[in-house]
Amino acid sequence: MSTTKKAKKHGAGHDAPQHARTRPTTLDPDWEVAPTESLRAPVGFDLAAFDRGSTPGFAGGKAAGQALVARHADELSELQERLFAEGRSGGSRSVLLVLQGMDTAGKGGIVRHVVGLVDPQGVAHRSFGVPTPEEREHDYLWRIRRALPEPGYIGVFDRSHYEDVLVARVDALVPPDVWEARYDEINRFEEEIVASGTIVVKVALLVSYEEQRARLMERLERPDKFWKYNPNDVDSRQKWPAYQEAYQAVLDRTSTEIAPWHVVPADRKWFARLAVSELLLDALRRLDLGWPPADFDVEVEKKRLAAT
Ligand code: ATP
Repeated sequence: MSTTKKAKKHGAGHDAPQHARTRPTTLDPDWEVAPTESLRAPVGFDLAAFDRGSTPGFAGGKAAGQALVARHADELSELQERLFAEGRSGGSRSVLLVLQGMDTAGKGGIVRHVVGLVDPQGVAHRSFGVPTPEEREHDYLWRIRRALPEPGYIGVFDRSHYEDVLVARVDALVPPDVWEARYDEINRFEEEIVASGTIVVKVALLVSYEEQRARLMERLERPDKFWKYNPNDVDSRQKWPAYQEAYQAVLDRTSTEIAPWHVVPADRKWFARLAVSELLLDALRRLDLGWPPADFDVEVEKKRLAAT
């Protein structure tokens, strides 16, 4: 069976162009198709048909997936340090990881287990809940702009401006013509961010309806998980079809060449974590980061130090 055929079984990338399927030499053998391709939302992506327990492009199991995350941790961490060093030395580049998903999709776990692999000093994490009174006085992108990562940082958005076309659409928080206009506004906004030197990695963590129920039930059955339970989560769950429709629109209308969406099946936590760690690593590798040269005379400084 060819690689392409095998990959088809797994899901997301099946409409990706053939030329995109060249196998990078750095790719771990367990990836039959590079995650940047197998997870990228293809044109015409059908959310309803997506298998949320699948592992697109990855042939290994849980142990192999976890081992790969561990194996890539040092590189991820070193590249983050290079990015930070570059930012400290006048560079303008940064990375922004946008995490979207229904409740229990595992956004928090990604932050803990993937983003947690790098130095927290170089991470700017921000979660977006119901807008505060101050935020409500401004345009919906106001709070987002203020939270964008400074040069050298990996910004992490736990929810994002996409809530303004998700919950805002489902709960009719604004009239249809307002949320309707936002898709193009968001695309223009992301164009600006990318032009200013930020790589935007957008991840939709897709948990199934059944798995969400199990995860919510676990939160109700275990005292150590009560704190994670929010009765509002069941309200959102009751609107599942409307949310799926809203997510489909997001994927259809805001997956652009410069800031594509990645669709990550989230029923297997180990896979979602592997997928995001590989996408983040790819973004950092694409920056081709070096170490900033010394802005002092190294030999002179050595002599000065030796003399002390
Ligand atoms: P999470 O559910 O993400 O784990 P949480 O339960 O602690 O987090 P918060 O982070 O305080 O809750 O808020 C998340 C809630 O805020 C979600 O229900 C989300 O839909 C809502 N929210 C986020 N952005 C907006 C927005 N722009 N307008 C209205 N509601 C929003």
